Amino acid sequence: MNRTIFRVLDIIRGTTVDGPGFRTSIYFAGCSHHCPGCHNPQSWDEKGGTPMTLEEIMEIVREEDFNVTLSGGDPLFYPGKTKTIVEALKKEGRNVWIYTGYTWEEIKANPVLADAVSGADTIVDGPFIETLKDPDLLFRGSSNQRIININTHETK
Ligand code: SF4
Repeated sequence: MNRTIFRVLDIIRGTTVDGPGFRTSIYFAGCSHHCPGCHNPQSWDEKGGTPMTLEEIMEIVREEDFNVTLSGGDPLFYPGKTKTIVEALKKEGRNVWIYTGYTWEEIKANPVLADAVSGADTIVDGPFIETLKDPDLLFRGSSNQRIININTHETK
């Protein structure tokens, strides 16, 4: 049994704003980027949210057939935990998106971060930059952020 404890701010089923189609979005506590204008600064506290086991999270995910988005906070605040949940989700055939404040270049340069995202399908990268905020962007807050297919490295 996996005894990893995740601190979960929220799990929303059926959202359409965190990637294509209806998705289950899981929001993890903890973020060190502290972007000015962050939409959710209460998510920065790593001690926030509710402690949950992997199995407790997966039970909620299994209530729907939706693909899954990991957000926060920044899921890569705890890269080892993110790797664990990505593996569990992929084992059940879910498409996995990860929102992170790290850029793709920072992730590729850091073996721990690169390993954490390697099993996922897509990342939305980079900090939120208030001066580049654009409400018309699909699935992103500011125009520096990119939607990157991890397997093909295709960027949108
Ligand atoms: S990375 Fe996301 S959660 Fe973290 S400070 Fe920036 S906008 Fe907020």
